Amino acid sequence: MSAGLPVVVSVAAALVLALALERLFPHEPARASWLANAGLWAVATGLRALVFGGAEWQVAAWTESARFGLLALSVQAATCHSAPPNTSARFGLLARAPAPVLVAVPMTVLGLDLVSYLWHRANHRLALLWRFHRVHHADPALTAVTSLRFHPGEILSSLPVRLAAIALLGAPLGAVVAFEAVFGAANALEHANVDLPARLERALELGLITPALHRRHHSVSRAEHDANYGTIFSFWDRLGRSRCPGASSDRFPLGLAAGSTGAPRSLAAMLLEPFRRATR
Ligand SMILES: [Zn+2]
Ligand SMILES: [Zn+2]
Repeated sequence: MSAGLPVVVSVAAALVLALALERLFPHEPARASWLANAGLWAVATGLRALVFGGAEWQVAAWTESARFGLLALSVQAATCHSAPPNTSARFGLLARAPAPVLVAVPMTVLGLDLVSYLWHRANHRLALLWRFHRVHHADPALTAVTSLRFHPGEILSSLPVRLAAIALLGAPLGAVVAFEAVFGAANALEHANVDLPARLERALELGLITPALHRRHHSVSRAEHDANYGTIFSFWDRLGRSRCPGASSDRFPLGLAAGSTGAPRSLAAMLLEPFRRATR
């Protein structure tokens, strides 16, 4: 079985659930840019496969077999008295001895989500990265379909960061698959144009990014879209002091200011957008 299959199933299921919730409890009327966003996703996914192939699974499988990474060191430290001597390459947090799955999976999900938070922050801070990331923010209608809208340049520049994080962490293959399945599902659900009951929303946002929190991240106001960078967990924004409160009852303009960029709707316009001059 391909390592990517559980991820595809998880993301597809989350997308279907998000689209169903949008029909049942819509936040506001919105017409999703299906053709353009799905087209951009297809181009980005194709280029990623062409350039990196299954590098993510290969790096994870290698760290697991070579026992490389932070998780391995931590487990070895706990078991060093009984571990047999070994001279093979063993490096990284999760690698010196096989980390138990109950340690490896949560540590991998936490570690890679933190790296994603930091990288997302860098995408807003660094002008070159923002050129590509603003294509995601420029969607005129924020819906679950926006979760497909990432420029190939953003996908190709972010993957080496994730590969390095997997190696340094020493995340085993199964844990990386679990992370990608949860991360992809969270990405689809938090873009949903949906209102949640206030009590449920308050409970969820203690630990997780809700659609209302991520909606703030798509606010036209720069002070608000330079906040709420998390994808799975909401506590990175609390720790990083980048949290902006958001509730389903909040109403505000979404997208990017007309002066900073248009709202490219066609696939060609989205692909060319990073190379257009735009003020922020
Ligand atoms: Zn962003
Ligand atoms: Zn988004």
